[in-house]
Amino acid sequence: MTGPTFSSAGSSGAMTAACPPETHVPTSPLLVRLTNRVFPQTAALASKYGLPLGAVIHPMAPDAPPVPVINFGQMGIVRCTRCRAYINFMCVFTDAGRRWRCCLCQFLNGTPNEYYAALDGSGKRSDARQRPELTHGSVEFVAPTDYMVRPPMPPVYVFIVEATAASATSGLLATAVDAIRRSLDVLPDDGRTKVALVTYDVAVHFHCFKAGEEAEPSALIVADVEDMFLPSPDDILVPLDECRPGLLKALERLPSTLPATAAPGTPVAPSPSCLGAALQGAFALMERWGGKAMVIAASRPTVGPGALRERGDPGALGADRERALLAPDIPFYRKMAVDFTRKQISADLFLATPPPGPFVDVASLAPLCKYTGGDFTYMPCFSVAADGDRLVRSVCRQLGRETGLEAVMRVRATKGV
Ligand SMILES: [Zn+2]
Repeated sequence: MTGPTFSSAGSSGAMTAACPPETHVPTSPLLVRLTNRVFPQTAALASKYGLPLGAVIHPMAPDAPPVPVINFGQMGIVRCTRCRAYINFMCVFTDAGRRWRCCLCQFLNGTPNEYYAALDGSGKRSDARQRPELTHGSVEFVAPTDYMVRPPMPPVYVFIVEATAASATSGLLATAVDAIRRSLDVLPDDGRTKVALVTYDVAVHFHCFKAGEEAEPSALIVADVEDMFLPSPDDILVPLDECRPGLLKALERLPSTLPATAAPGTPVAPSPSCLGAALQGAFALMERWGGKAMVIAASRPTVGPGALRERGDPGALGADRERALLAPDIPFYRKMAVDFTRKQISADLFLATPPPGPFVDVASLAPLCKYTGGDFTYMPCFSVAADGDRLVRSVCRQLGRETGLEAVMRVRATKGV
């Protein structure tokens, strides 16, 4: 597909641009990577070949080169009045710089007085080299308040941990406690961070904390998992810097409340658990703020809303009916994810099943992470010796890496793409 009727996305010939070609800084493929390097030049050709076009978009990619940050201040961000495209290096200035043509919809916009600059002899803006938005393929605009649906919320983290005989005996519970304790050091430390600890077996335990070094933690238990509610509006989701001593005490005591019933590594019978109800409780905690739910589970949920039936079928491997096992059995976790997303909540799930690795229905649980931008980590036959360190490091990494807590993604493209 390199014939003369196709144009390359990065060729200088395509840049009838606001900036001189030699000053153009292209977008890093770490930020945006297209599936095709060349495109049909006409709609007829595109229709004839039917090339699908996709893009992998990865904002804030860790190894990407720095992206210039632009603040238009009181003037506001310069955008196309018809299609709302942002000013960029492909826009062309005309009429001595008083107007500019949108590169997406070809609409001729007036240049705001504060943004005006004369054109040089080649028709380029005289200040193009000083304006990153006219030279760089990727830029970041500082959004004024009218771009926000609400003021920035405090960072909120809710830890949801399965506390059953299965998770205690496999060592997962103690490992989860260790991971949470260490991850507290990597959470944002701006005095606004809020945290909550929710554990569950066949009931949901909301742990309550008061401020101060001497404050003792307590727990409120909701046993009616079919009708989840928040037992206390104030003491469950608490400021981390004020209630950290109480949270650490609760974490320290948690493994001792459920002594292991067998030696580590020995087969463990699955425990009944109500993950769906715990997620509903976490949702009630977080819906006002948004944030991240970190779930660490050992068993297939079998109690209350979101209970999953045993549908493991070793005989299906390689057979036609195996396909059914790869699809969710119930829509509960996908619907939960939709609710989470509407409230700016993301869910990470660590599913670490004890040996001998019982059926846990990953296909039904995975949509919870898939549709909320979270990570799903499956660790069958969890063993502290083999997997414990990896789980602790993964939890710390997922909570400590640079994170955007609220976002709207919108992709604008030329008509026909
Ligand atoms: Zn436009």
